[in-house]
Amino acid sequence: MQATEAKKHLSFGSLIKYLGGLYLDVPDWRQEGKVEHSIRDTAMGGVGMMYFQSDSVLEFQRQLEVSTRRSNLSTLFGVNKVPSDSQMREILDEVSSETARPAFKKYFAGLQRGKYLERFQIFPGQYLLSLDGSQYFGSENISCPHCLIKEHKSGQTNYSHLILQATLVHPDQKQVIPLMPEEICNEDGTTKQDCEFNAAKRILPQIRTEHPFLDIIINCDGLYSKQPMFELLYELKMHGILVAKEDDHKPLFEWVSEQRQLGETTQYEAVDEKHRKHRYEWINAVPLNGRPDSILVNFFRYQIIVDGEVTYKSAWVTDLEVTKQNVATMVRAGRARWKIENECFNTLKNQGYHLEHNFGHGQKNLSFNFFLFNLLAFFIHQILELTDGMYQRCRQCYRTKKHLWETLRVLFGLFIFETWENMLTMALSRYTEQPRPG
Ligand SMILES: [Zn+2]
Repeated sequence: MQATEAKKHLSFGSLIKYLGGLYLDVPDWRQEGKVEHSIRDTAMGGVGMMYFQSDSVLEFQRQLEVSTRRSNLSTLFGVNKVPSDSQMREILDEVSSETARPAFKKYFAGLQRGKYLERFQIFPGQYLLSLDGSQYFGSENISCPHCLIKEHKSGQTNYSHLILQATLVHPDQKQVIPLMPEEICNEDGTTKQDCEFNAAKRILPQIRTEHPFLDIIINCDGLYSKQPMFELLYELKMHGILVAKEDDHKPLFEWVSEQRQLGETTQYEAVDEKHRKHRYEWINAVPLNGRPDSILVNFFRYQIIVDGEVTYKSAWVTDLEVTKQNVATMVRAGRARWKIENECFNTLKNQGYHLEHNFGHGQKNLSFNFFLFNLLAFFIHQILELTDGMYQRCRQCYRTKKHLWETLRVLFGLFIFETWENMLTMALSRYTEQPRPG
């Protein structure tokens, strides 16, 4: 496929059309003749809300529908008839969350074909995939049979939903690329750690199946830096850069310390323009744990020293060979984990989360479906930032992303646009006609 053709597949219209098509294929369980809103209309209404991060989207579009017989949910999201809140709740609770899965793969493949993925290479041909657990719902009174339950000593019960999220990241790229998340379910009273690790045992083979040839380096926290994780990575032909904490890895750190005294570790320091010292140290082929059958891993650590004081330090274990040439990049790769917290989860958590409170938690799939719509809307925003020239211009013209989206929400509620591009043209018009001062 040509890059220009690939770009067409990444346009707002194509991305939305593909997503809507997935919900068109869901078999309808409802009695014929009693169906007022199709599953696709309902799902895409939900996507529209998440896309504009506003629960008033449905109400405004219903008003537009009444006064003009049309709405932006229809022109932009293919919604023939805007559903009511209660209808949305009922229908989306029944729809399998797996319906959304192909969209993550399709969007990823689009970025790959359009050559947008190349800039995410951390080493030639290799991509960094951050793996992190996150809570997306928590309550003391709302719950469903899928909720994780935590009893507090005070007698309070806490209900929550967690996911394990895999996200393609690069330390120099502002955008991140999410893959389909894995739900962490409460089964047989297992502890959270077991659950999160079990979720990793489900999501990693799934990723390998969906991306059979992708050269992946999994980047995760100290929870995972154990032998079974390395064995799983070997089996799936993946690499790993995993945080190693001294408390969890006493024999490993003792070994490294002994080797240091013997002069077997390699160190090097660099001073930056702010006079901060960056100290790197590494040693290859050390036992991960104190057991006789321990695997050998490569160890590296990093410190930032300001005025003789250590202001940051961290250490990692990896199966990749650490060398003087790659150690700085390895450290940047290891530290890129914060990106998934900052760029992905915080964005999702700080925006749109009130939607679930207004639309309900459901008993089956509602909660996770809303999370997926939110994540897909976020994914589409990321794709537009990478590929859509008009959207990029809007981002440059408007002071902040928040300001731009406030404007887009107002336009969405007031005027009917045939296309997303028309909407951006209007958002840009005040800047093209009247250049911004300064
Ligand atoms: Zn629940």
